Amino acid sequence: MKCPHCGSSSTQKRNLGRKMGGSVGAIAGGMVGITGGAESAALGAAAGSLIPGVGTLAGGVIGFLVGMGSGAALGAVAGESLDKELFDGYICHACSLTFNHEES
Ligand SMILES: [Zn+2]
Repeated sequence: MKCPHCGSSSTQKRNLGRKMGGSVGAIAGGMVGITGGAESAALGAAAGSLIPGVGTLAGGVIGFLVGMGSGAALGAVAGESLDKELFDGYICHACSLTFNHEES
């Protein structure tokens, strides 16, 4: 991919949205798992109830981990589509221009 500004081939794909989406998704998914508002928490509670004497605490931890994992995956998918729609796809190391390959 060549830079549309200076023509340098020293460009790199950024994937900014996917990275951000993964981080935000992991945090949001973990919070959902803790507060028990989604199916990840229900799954954690169900898993916790299978183990006598461990119950709610383990269920909450499992719910948090499941929520974090699925949240990160969902966030990465959402972020990847944001990469295509909103964020600049490439950066030029020669002139620091960010650009989207579809516009060049
Ligand atoms: Zn450039």
